[in-house]
Amino acid sequence: MLTVPSLTALLSVFCYFMFFGAVWAFLEPLGAQYGIDGRTVGLIVSASLAAQVLGAMTATVFEARIDYRLAVATIGVVALVSSLVLASGPDLTTFWVAALVMGFILLFIVPYQIRLAITADETRTAVLLVPAAQLFGLAIGPIAASLLIDGKDFRPVPEFAAASAVASVLLLGLFVLVARGRPPRAGPGSAMSNNWSNWSGFVTAEPRLIASPADAGELGDLIRTALGPVRVVGAGHSFTPLVKSEGTILSLEKLEGLVSHDAEKHQARVRAGTRLGPLMHILQGIGQGLPNMGDIDRQAIGGALGTATHGSGPKLGAYHTQLETVQIVDGLGKLRDFKRAGDQETIHAIGVALGAFGVLTEVTLNNIATYRLRRRKWVLPITEMLREFETMMAAHRSAEFYYIPFSGYAQFIASDLSDVAPTPRPPEADEAGLRTLRRLRTALAWLPSLRGRLIRSAVAKFPAEDYVQDWLNVYASDRQTKFNEMEYHLPFEVGPKALAEIIELTEKHFPEVYFPMEVRTVAPDEFWLSPFYRRPTCSIAIHHDAANDPLPFMRAAEPIFRRYGGRPHWGKMHSLKAVELKKLYPRWDDAMAVRRDIDPQNRLVSPYMAGLFGIEPGPSGSER
Ligand SMILES: Cc1cc2nc3c(=O)[nH]c(=O)nc-3n(C[C@H](O)[C@H](O)[C@H](O)COP(=O)(O)OP(=O)(O)OC[C@H]3O[C@@H](n4cnc5c(N)ncnc54)[C@H](O)[C@@H]3O)c2cc1C
Repeated sequence: MLTVPSLTALLSVFCYFMFFGAVWAFLEPLGAQYGIDGRTVGLIVSASLAAQVLGAMTATVFEARIDYRLAVATIGVVALVSSLVLASGPDLTTFWVAALVMGFILLFIVPYQIRLAITADETRTAVLLVPAAQLFGLAIGPIAASLLIDGKDFRPVPEFAAASAVASVLLLGLFVLVARGRPPRAGPGSAMSNNWSNWSGFVTAEPRLIASPADAGELGDLIRTALGPVRVVGAGHSFTPLVKSEGTILSLEKLEGLVSHDAEKHQARVRAGTRLGPLMHILQGIGQGLPNMGDIDRQAIGGALGTATHGSGPKLGAYHTQLETVQIVDGLGKLRDFKRAGDQETIHAIGVALGAFGVLTEVTLNNIATYRLRRRKWVLPITEMLREFETMMAAHRSAEFYYIPFSGYAQFIASDLSDVAPTPRPPEADEAGLRTLRRLRTALAWLPSLRGRLIRSAVAKFPAEDYVQDWLNVYASDRQTKFNEMEYHLPFEVGPKALAEIIELTEKHFPEVYFPMEVRTVAPDEFWLSPFYRRPTCSIAIHHDAANDPLPFMRAAEPIFRRYGGRPHWGKMHSLKAVELKKLYPRWDDAMAVRRDIDPQNRLVSPYMAGLFGIEPGPSGSER
């Protein structure tokens, strides 16, 4: 349904194209009126067409860097000025310049108009109508302007164009005003002292206190006395509001590093605030390696454990499956220790805990001896990938693939143990590849077949990779382009079918999507709140540029994942609440009973956590 914001956005687009349609249709008689011969005006028209192409190409470079409101308003002002110049009886050179500027801005504005329409209407109706509004404006502009022409005086045409440009900007202003009433969205990286935001900028909080306790004693005091709800943050790389609190956010950044290790058993006891990057080097230094890793090494180990963070591999479990011992400070501020030998059930209950089963202070991880991996990457048609899914995913120690939207191609990544000498890891190409995909999206979102052809030719040039490196130099990549993400963990065998549906949905309805979709496998485990609980898993992750609203895409994809029995990644976008989650986790009630014992006063329960668990949020004052 078209709402007031979407109508205002479409009218702004319509008026802008009226401006151009009017001038374009009457450029020749207008030139003649100023003494410019028809041949020269013809040349000006051709050059202006070239300027249009240049404008479209330039927009692909700047699109993500300029706010759409600023772009539409500025271009509107440029349109106004160039129209007034044309109305003022310019000399030949000025006429040339004005016509070229108009040509340049015509297509430069298009990506911003698309962004305007996407922002105006989550249901996508408005964005689908943008081309219609543009064409309608191009058609109506000359008709309306012709009514103003007086005999041989064509100057009312650029005057009408100037008025259309003004109307376009005013409608944008109206749009901004009417859209203001809607809930605000966070910009990434807010820096005010008690403002907190997650990695992507989608989740923000204004807690009364952000504190970094120096030891377990101080942590216990804070849990007991600080303004609730008390939530703990690792590296803030989750996409859901797990960390959000209006009371207290505790960071364990001071609780980091190695506590002790057992060289024979390949076990290491580490503090929970240790980031994975430093952890890798600590472990390598004592002859140990993490058996597997995800895409990045920025998370804190406590945070990675908190959401069942995982890598890929049919026989490789997520990080929590490495837990041998767990030390927490519980909701009453008391230090408690649990060991796999003797407390196996509790470890299974609290191993994946979303920061709600006490605050982890130290964990002992079962690692393996350091090792080397041979990593290979190659591209193949998605039809072949889906057909051979089970064989290809099972054939390697670790295998995953990315589907590149609108291309028909997948990039397969296989890692296997190797004992040959290391070879250089090729420079990272993911960010450059993403930039290309974004530019093609911006320029050709509405020409899917041309976009697909160009992506295919870019994908064909992806270099096949093949190198051998120590484990810590293989798994992690540097992710610079911010995104929001949803990942569902599905029964392994339904992965290809579900992915095919997600691809169809994306390519039919979400032309703005350009991030590759990631498909991985994870081994089953016994942890009660693990999305891999007793189930060989195929995980499918979809991503959306953090500069745009991800919710329409995520909302459309989620029912597909759910229809296939998916369990959401705890740290990635999903809309499930206790009533749905309970059905997905056979030991749900048992886990909740353990939680009650650990945090009887719900000190660690924010409103978001209360919704997830179907319980009351904790008191928000320190006096309880
Ligand atoms: C670029 C990027 C790439 C990613 N790649 C992957 C991937 O490959 N695989 C994957 O599975 N996920 C991936 N994720 C998701 C990410 O791994 C998880 O969301 C993870 O939980 C984030 O870790 P963090 O340290 O930032 O934790 P946060 O997001 O800060 O916290 C996550 C949860 O852990 C809790 N927590 C943190 N520390 C403690 C503690 N000491 N004690 C108790 N609870 C604690 C928090 O309260 C919260 O509930 C990625 C995310 C991003 C942004």
